[in-house]
Amino acid sequence: MDARDAGQDLERVLLTEDQVHTRLREMAAQIDAHYAGSDVLLVGVLKGAVMVMADLARALTVPVTMDWMAVSSYGSGTKSSGVVRILKDLDTDLTGKNVLIVEDIIDSGLTLSWLSANLGSRGPASVKIATLLRKPTAAKVDVAVEWVGFDIGEEFVVGYGLDYAERYRNLRDIGVLAQHVYA
Ligand code: 5GP
Ligand code: MG
Ligand code: MG
Repeated sequence: MDARDAGQDLERVLLTEDQVHTRLREMAAQIDAHYAGSDVLLVGVLKGAVMVMADLARALTVPVTMDWMAVSSYGSGTKSSGVVRILKDLDTDLTGKNVLIVEDIIDSGLTLSWLSANLGSRGPASVKIATLLRKPTAAKVDVAVEWVGFDIGEEFVVGYGLDYAERYRNLRDIGVLAQHVYA
């Protein structure tokens, strides 16, 4: 779906599909340069990072493998619970691997700081993080994020993998959800 199909549910479009794709190609070039000569295991965080993973992975030229984790920190609301649970773990042994966590958005950073510590304890050669979006609140958290697509405001956004109550993940653009949808 595109923003027109979402109609009144969006306050406005924040980033178009084209802007996202352009930025992901820039990030991929930097990531390629960083990992030149080695393999990378991309770890996508379900479900929000599905679109980022698909586009970032195809823009990379270093050899990659992909695996997925599902963690829960949010429920269906718009505020972080601070509680992280593993819903689905990796199939891959991380020993000696260069791990790149691929995320859709960092808000409180609770999910990612927990996740990178968890993966870091499994004997990888390195653990780094790439996220498409970052909110201002993330600056307060002690988690190093090597690659960030866009710094955005405090608003709740949907689309390009990001949901509200599991909807809008298939919206091509990224939009600010209208308040009446969740009020
Ligand atoms: P954190 O632990 O950093 O607060 O939460 C990260 C997760 O919260 C993201 O992976 C995402 O699932 C959800 N989240 C945080 N901000 C937003 C937002 O603006 N829109 C949507 N759809 N999800 C968000
Ligand atoms: Mg996510
Ligand atoms: Mg969600």
